Amino acid sequence: MARESIHGATHIAFDLDGDGSPDYTQAYRGPVKRVFLFRAADDANPRHHVVDWDDLDPANERHLFLLLDGVPYDAMAELWSEGRFRLFHRPGLLISTLPSLTDPSFAQILQAEPPCGYESCYFQRGRNRLTNGTQTYLRGDNEPWNSALDYRLNFIEDAIMYLFPGYVFRRELENARRTLLRSERHHPVVYLLSTDGLGHMQKRTEVLRYLRLLDRWIERLIYEQGARLQITMLADHGNSFVATEPFRLKELLQQAGLHASRSLKKQGDVVVPEFGLIDFAALYVFDANTLHRVVEVCRRDPAVELICYRQAQPPGIIVLNGRQRALIHRVEQPVRYGYVQLSGDPLRLAQTIRRLKQIGQLSEDGLAHDRAWLQATRHHVFPDPLHRIWQALTENTRNPADVLLSLTPGYHVGDPSLDAWARMEGTHGGLRAASSNTFIMSTALQVPPWQRPADVLKRIQATVAWQPRVGGSASRSPAHQKTQDISQVIP
Ligand SMILES: [Zn+2]
Repeated sequence: MARESIHGATHIAFDLDGDGSPDYTQAYRGPVKRVFLFRAADDANPRHHVVDWDDLDPANERHLFLLLDGVPYDAMAELWSEGRFRLFHRPGLLISTLPSLTDPSFAQILQAEPPCGYESCYFQRGRNRLTNGTQTYLRGDNEPWNSALDYRLNFIEDAIMYLFPGYVFRRELENARRTLLRSERHHPVVYLLSTDGLGHMQKRTEVLRYLRLLDRWIERLIYEQGARLQITMLADHGNSFVATEPFRLKELLQQAGLHASRSLKKQGDVVVPEFGLIDFAALYVFDANTLHRVVEVCRRDPAVELICYRQAQPPGIIVLNGRQRALIHRVEQPVRYGYVQLSGDPLRLAQTIRRLKQIGQLSEDGLAHDRAWLQATRHHVFPDPLHRIWQALTENTRNPADVLLSLTPGYHVGDPSLDAWARMEGTHGGLRAASSNTFIMSTALQVPPWQRPADVLKRIQATVAWQPRVGGSASRSPAHQKTQDISQVIP
């Protein structure tokens, strides 16, 4: 493993003990740091020790999985372009689930069971009741993926985090470092939550400043571990970096004569779980009549950009944007989607469809392969929309909603008691690119330029035999992989 020299490559030398000669040197190979030279402390008889990552088999190295909450792809790509995080190969785009929220996204990334709800406060259809979001959250009940973690902030501290994200971020980094130094796990998993708080509470330039601290933290870790540690780092969703004001969804429904309630007992009853301050809402309705009243009132409000709901005949999902209306339908084996513009183009896909037709990927009946849609819409304002909307209304959670809202930039919904505490500088949850697009990057492997959460684990496993410890079963059971019967639309 030792090499004589590192001549001919760009390198950075550090004089960490201040004796005037470098004791740690990093050399680049191409755009990334791959060779690490350590000088032994014994000055009388200096000895060098070189670690070359290209000479090591990543399958045998200790490997840290660093899971961040709420870091947009653009932010990480910008930092990498400015020369930060160059222990890692170039970041790849990871398009979150819909909703672009932590629990559904990490459940897919770590191949855990789907969570009970989109968030900790959710509607239990079988019991016809709304959960207590805070209790569920503190017990971690909606986070079956949490069992994979070796370090995570204490659940009680999460609330404090959203008030002082910068302070908690530094503390989280220090605690995570201590956990790692103590741990003997070959594949330790660390989850940093405060990056999400930073995105909600701070402006973009401030968030970048904290991420540069993270880069330094990683650099220090690699030095302390003698470069015998590989790292794969990713996040669950992005952040809009647009200041938001509350959208009073329940009030809007009440004013229209509907009843925002905790269970569904009569016509007009609507359950609206409220938890985090996000640009996405899930609604559960008593019957088809109530559903259409909800859709009518939401459709007219400027805070609502998109409305999605399942329809029995013709089977599929209706997407609305104001007066614009389209139908998404899906055919299995192989999975193909169609997008029928009923009036206007709510998902702005007309150009994409023309392109798919030109390159021969759209059949006569207007269907294109699931992966063709992903490729064609990966840089769209609504990335990968058909697959993500379909999953959101069927299998991303065990209690899929009847109606989903993705909000106009500048608005959020959620627990109104939180509004008093915070001025929101950004949010996520909805279908838009800023909320949805996050990143994955690794020191050990070149990640694909774009992928979905459900693709992540098998791509990593091609290089590293990592099996996250998730709730009981190692992979999602077939029952959750099959799509729900689209005719069971309304309770
Ligand atoms: Zn968040």
